[in-house]
Amino acid sequence: MACEICDDTGWKTIEVDGASRVARCDCMRESAAARLLAEARIPRRYQHCDLANYIAYNEKLTKALQHATRLAEGFPVVDRGLLLLGPPGVGKTHLAVAILRRVIATRGARGIFYDTRDLLRVIRSTYDPVNQTAEMDVLKPVMEADMFVLDDLGAEKTSEWVEETLNLIVNARYSAQRTTIFTSNYEERGDDITDPDSLLFRIGYRMRSRLHEMCELVDLDGADYRELPPNGGVDDLVTLWKLRSKASRKATLPSRATGQARAQIKERGGDGKADLKWSGGRAGSSS
Ligand SMILES: [Zn+2]
Repeated sequence: MACEICDDTGWKTIEVDGASRVARCDCMRESAAARLLAEARIPRRYQHCDLANYIAYNEKLTKALQHATRLAEGFPVVDRGLLLLGPPGVGKTHLAVAILRRVIATRGARGIFYDTRDLLRVIRSTYDPVNQTAEMDVLKPVMEADMFVLDDLGAEKTSEWVEETLNLIVNARYSAQRTTIFTSNYEERGDDITDPDSLLFRIGYRMRSRLHEMCELVDLDGADYRELPPNGGVDDLVTLWKLRSKASRKATLPSRATGQARAQIKERGGDGKADLKWSGGRAGSSS
């Protein structure tokens, strides 16, 4: 069906100060945005993610939403991206995708999304001689996108090759002042690189210091939304979040106390509201 406004010419007539001018028809802008969105590689399960449907029920989540909104609205006139940190399921990827979708739709930005392990797998696959895709065919769009989301940073333990590859991408984006959003389940815990739960342990000094230069650090805390029952609401999220904080506090106690904490959570789960799969409260131990 032809566009009612422009009859598929892509141009429409508008009045500016009493004079007729020609401008791009909205249908063109929409189809350009749809094409950019399709090229952004956003996984199906995150395609609904928007700033408007993000539920912020505590202070950290509210702050995170503010950071995300500021970045989406300010883009491309922003000097930093975001490093979203927090335990699995608090909505880091939701926020990152929401920003990405927003700048694609409103700014016509070229955006791209990759899960870290996925990206490394795709790059490795180009080394296979039967694969016709060259390494640069994968790297170039990632380095040159106006906005890049690298999800689940630290999921793959760093090796020399992983470090080289990620640094190459991140440094290229940093030098060109392109905006990048990272998410990670690992915590920012200072300079002790031997702590296996720290982001530093997973990504190394070089990458960590680059991230600090190019991103604003945002801590998220809350429930794992994947544990929310189908008809659950904000109240359930708050309950699950409190159980989770309690579990992570108990996790630092000796094993007998931890056993009790686990039993208590099972009990709470019995009311059908909160079936909390206890992850031991360690960041990154479940995903
Ligand atoms: Zn049109």
